[in-house]
Amino acid sequence: MGERSWPPTAGEGWSPADRRPLLVSACLLGVPCNHRGGASPNAEVAALGRDRRLIPVCPETAGGLPTPRPAAEIQPSGRVVTAGGDDVTDAYERGAAQAVRLASAAGAAGAVLKARSPSCGCHEVYDGTFSRSRVPGEGVTARALRAAGVPVWSEEDVDAGEAPRS
Ligand code: SF4
Repeated sequence: MGERSWPPTAGEGWSPADRRPLLVSACLLGVPCNHRGGASPNAEVAALGRDRRLIPVCPETAGGLPTPRPAAEIQPSGRVVTAGGDDVTDAYERGAAQAVRLASAAGAAGAVLKARSPSCGCHEVYDGTFSRSRVPGEGVTARALRAAGVPVWSEEDVDAGEAPRS
């Protein structure tokens, strides 16, 4: 394998000019950043990095939250609250804004995000009762990315072959 230059040049074994980078939830790439201090590595998601640059991002830690941290869920009001009643919405929104800035700066083709996270979930989330009940909806970062025009997929979409392959 040849040396890679820095900064990377399109077409030099990094992200080819015709394959824009993808933002990826860092926990899906093996970073132990979830609320329990664990990761959710996904081989299919990692394989997307064979022909394009993957940019890991953890919006909750980017927003200033520690690892581990209390679990939080989106309430019907839209606020993000921990099981202990702390409102952490501001940190979630800071992390979402960071992810949007990163996607824009990188010219990302989209984002592959961890399913059902209150930040990263892009099809459904937990319902705010901490009972593992799911409802249709999206996490704070997934919503912000989509609103900014960045397509989002979950790792389950990737497993089903739905994320960009070309
Ligand atoms: Fe993973 Fe997203 Fe939660 Fe960070 S915020 S641990 S990237 S699901």
